[in-house]
Amino acid sequence: MAYSIAIDGPAGAGKSTIAKAAAKRLGFIYVDTGAMYRAMGLYMLREGIDGDDEETQSARCAEAQITICYEDGVQQVYLNGENVNALIRTEEVGKMASAVARNKDVRLQLVYLQRALAERENVIMDGRDIGTYVLPDATCKIYLTASVEERGRRRFLELRAKGIDCDLEEIKADIEARDQQDMNRDFAPLRQAEDAVLLDSSDLGPEEVVEEVLRIFEESCE
Ligand code: C5P
Repeated sequence: MAYSIAIDGPAGAGKSTIAKAAAKRLGFIYVDTGAMYRAMGLYMLREGIDGDDEETQSARCAEAQITICYEDGVQQVYLNGENVNALIRTEEVGKMASAVARNKDVRLQLVYLQRALAERENVIMDGRDIGTYVLPDATCKIYLTASVEERGRRRFLELRAKGIDCDLEEIKADIEARDQQDMNRDFAPLRQAEDAVLLDSSDLGPEEVVEEVLRIFEESCE
């Protein structure tokens, strides 16, 4: 049976940075499930479908063929044959991803893909519902979080480094709104699984968090 590490947590907690680094150390595949929801969000935006129009989203989500593959070890997301990696990191797409992620039909379509990957490969998968819903039998589960202050600050620095003009207070408000939406949806909301280890990275550097993840994983294999 393949090994799987589930990392869940709120927006901006550093899940992808940590999961990527840990996957490299372990030789596992890193699966960024948020990128799949973002690709679906991009599809709905392009089609002019409203974030609150659940019925149309349910009727049309199957038109969005989302696949992932790896080029030089980096996950690439394809939407109907087009590589959309460079298009899905905007705040606009993030907000739409969170809106369409409330839809059960959207989720079931993407969860099917996520489970198929974890069956074949050793994976470290990050998202919101990996430990609670996608991989309930994961080898180990981690709930990675940090204060809103710290998450906002990190996102702000990341965007500024990319040359994107942004406002710290606005970013913090966006992060909090997205967390609320993710935690309060009906189907597979964001919450810490009962058997997940809580890891607060507010006062830790990325290397320390990676070491902690590796330690938790090794312990769960004993
Ligand atoms: O992690 P990221 O910010 O890229 O995710 C974008 C959005 O996709 C999240 O705000 C969340 O609403 C949704 N998502 C989800 N379940 C996952 C991964 C992401 O609902 N497993």
